[in-house]
Amino acid sequence: MSVLVYLENWDGKFKKVSFELLSYGKKIAEDMGVPMFALSLGKVDASELETLKTYGPEKIFVNDNGFDSLDNEMYASAISQAAEKEDATLVVFSQDNVGNALAGRVAVRLKAGLVSAVSAIPISYDPFIIKKKVYTNKVFGHVKVNTAKKILSLSKNTFEIIENAAAGVVEELALDHAEPKTKVESTDKVTGKLLLTDAELVVSAGRGMKGPENWGMIEELAETLGAATACSRPCSDEGWRPHTEHVGQTGKIIAPNLYIAIGISGAIQHIGGISNSKCIVAINKDPDAPIFEAADYGIVGDAFKVIPELNEALKNA
Ligand SMILES: Cc1cc2nc3c(=O)[nH]c(=O)nc-3n(C[C@H](O)[C@H](O)[C@H](O)COP(=O)(O)OP(=O)(O)OC[C@H]3O[C@@H](n4cnc5c(N)ncnc54)[C@H](O)[C@@H]3O)c2cc1C
Repeated sequence: MSVLVYLENWDGKFKKVSFELLSYGKKIAEDMGVPMFALSLGKVDASELETLKTYGPEKIFVNDNGFDSLDNEMYASAISQAAEKEDATLVVFSQDNVGNALAGRVAVRLKAGLVSAVSAIPISYDPFIIKKKVYTNKVFGHVKVNTAKKILSLSKNTFEIIENAAAGVVEELALDHAEPKTKVESTDKVTGKLLLTDAELVVSAGRGMKGPENWGMIEELAETLGAATACSRPCSDEGWRPHTEHVGQTGKIIAPNLYIAIGISGAIQHIGGISNSKCIVAINKDPDAPIFEAADYGIVGDAFKVIPELNEALKNA
């Protein structure tokens, strides 16, 4: 028996969430008295594999043969094979676009019960009961899983990163490669920009900015802070901002250390995508805007006055 943690990479580097997943997987593995293994598919730098050893995997399985096709079935097949080979009773994913696409497919292949948006370690192991977020993170549910094998996808920023050195022996994983069902002909890469889902700091703005012509001050503030930019859904629907910046229930789900919401009312669908942020700062001219209920700090004021002043103060700090 073992716990297997699937680690996503981006341009050869592990995503920030990988260390949280390993810390989480390690705690469960210790509770169950079994080893934890990590799995990485696709090309990653050797130095990146080295960093994983700090977070407790006894083995790190790798295979970078053919994982450039972005084919979910191919990834799901590989992860299922690794789980079967290592007799994994529990497989852990991150709850994000990749995790959402893969966890269900792996669950079907392994005939395993799946719990998404998990927000804590299991309440009990026998019976297996675990806490998860439901209704756009408004409510917690307790789910009992009856299958022998279990798949969990972990909500971001719910478990602390714990250093826990282990052997971390890197081992090539032999795979029967599934033929890709889809072929990506070409991809357009956004270069020179921070990956929104991985950013520690995010400056986000909404309809309160009135129009795309006013985004200069948002981008300047983001540049001063070294932050990624994001927006509410109407701003991307209107074509003010690219769809890649839209956060919320129907957009990206993010969990930065700092989320600054400017001219965003704080609709439940928006909060659903940002509520795991460690600190939320809201800037809004309406003192009754719902965003202030979700915010740790709030500035009631006109963004067109506050943002340049804030930017200037930060530059001088
Ligand atoms: C099924 C469904 C899914 C959805 N999914 C999403 C989603 O994923 N993400 C998302 O964001 N929305 C989503 N929405 C839309 C959501 O319900 C809200 O309509 C949207 O979030 C509102 O965007 P906003 O806050 O930018 O605009 P508004 O609600 O118009 O708010 C603008 C805010 O700016 C403030 N403001 C105005 N002028 C200034 C100023 N000068 N200075 C400071 N503040 C100012 C106002 O006081 C107001 O609070 C979804 C809706 C539905 C029905």
